[in-house]
Amino acid sequence: MSRKLASIRTVSEVRTIPNADAIELALVDGWQCVVKKGEFAPGDRCVYFEIDSVLPVRPEYEFLRKGCYRKAEWLPGGEGFRIKTIKLRGQISQGLALPVGSLGSLDALAAGELEDLTEALGVSLWDPPVHASMRGQVRGNFPSFIPKTDQERAQNCLRKLAQEAGDHLFEATLKVDGSSCTIFAKDGFVRVCSRNLELDMDQEGNTFVDMARKVGPAILSAGRNLAFQGELMGPGIQGNREGFTEHRWFVFDVWDIDAQRYLSASERMDVVGGLGLDHVPSLGHIPAAAEPLDVLLARSDAQASIRHAIAEGIVYKSVIDPSVSFKVISNRFLLNCET
Ligand code: AMP
Ligand code: MN
Repeated sequence: MSRKLASIRTVSEVRTIPNADAIELALVDGWQCVVKKGEFAPGDRCVYFEIDSVLPVRPEYEFLRKGCYRKAEWLPGGEGFRIKTIKLRGQISQGLALPVGSLGSLDALAAGELEDLTEALGVSLWDPPVHASMRGQVRGNFPSFIPKTDQERAQNCLRKLAQEAGDHLFEATLKVDGSSCTIFAKDGFVRVCSRNLELDMDQEGNTFVDMARKVGPAILSAGRNLAFQGELMGPGIQGNREGFTEHRWFVFDVWDIDAQRYLSASERMDVVGGLGLDHVPSLGHIPAAAEPLDVLLARSDAQASIRHAIAEGIVYKSVIDPSVSFKVISNRFLLNCET
C-alpha cells in the first residue's frame, strides 16, 4: 500500500489557540494542524499533506524552508521540505493544510475528495535508506501468496471503522520500531522477506537471512506452510532505540499460506509460543474502534516499550477479522524519538 500523502480533504473544525494572533488549528479527519488565521472556515476543502511527506522545492512551498528544508542524496532531486510532527504554541501540529486555490499549477478544484495528489504534486515519502547489513541480495518480489504487513493510521480510518467494526474486540499489541521481516516455510524450505522483497537465503552478513537461519528449524518443525511476520530489532536497525545487544524478532502475525488466511490471535499465540518464538507484547483486548481518538492517543502516549519509556505506538487487530487493523502512533514518540 503506497501512502496517500497528499489529498483533497475537508476542514471539519477551526479552533483558536490561546495567545496566538497569527495562527489557529484546523481539524482534518483525525489530524490537527496549525494554519494561518482566517485561512479556513469549517467545511472548506484543502490540500492536505500528511506527516512524512517531502514536498518538492518550489516557490509555493518556500515558506516552509526555515523549519523543513532537508538535503539528502536519496531524495528525488536531492532536496525537499519535510513535513513532520511539531509543536507550535503548545499545540501539536501534524501535516500541512493549504487552500485548494494556492497551488497554482494544480487544477485541484476539479479533483474530488480524498483524491490522491501525491504524484501530481511531486510529493515523496520521507524514508531514509537502511543500513547495508539490511539490504542484501534480492531473490525476487515479495511473494504474491503472502500479504505485506501494514496498517492504516487511526487518524485516517477511525471514523469508518467505528461504523464497520465498532462492536469488534481488538487485540492490542505493542508497536515496536524495527524492520518488517517475514520468515516462512514453503514445501520444506525456509525463505525470508524484508518489507517489500524476498531475499536470497544463500548469502552471508545479512541480518534478515541470519535471523531466518536461526529460527528456520523451529518454523519447519511446525510442518505447515506458514508465514511468520514480525519485527526485526537490534543493532543497526532504526537506531536500536531499545538498546538490544543482539538481534531479536517479535512475531505479530501468522499467515496460513495453504488456507490463505491469518491465524486468529489465540491460534497465533499457541503456535508462536509452542515453537519458542518471541511474540510482540500483548496489551489486552479492547473495543478500540468504538473509542474516541483522543482516548486511543492518550493510551499510546502513556505506553512504555520493551526497554524504552516511550513506545512507538499500539497496533489494534480485530479478533473477529484480523485483516481489520489500524495503528495509533504515539505523539510523544513522534515529538521526542523520531529521527
Ligand atoms: P509503520 O512502521 O508505521 O510503517 O507501520 C507498519 C509496520 O509496523 C508493520 O509493517 C510492521 O513491520 C510494524 N509493526 C511493529 N509492531 C507491530 C505490531 N505489534 N503489529 C503489527 N505490525 C507491527
Ligand atoms: Mn516501522
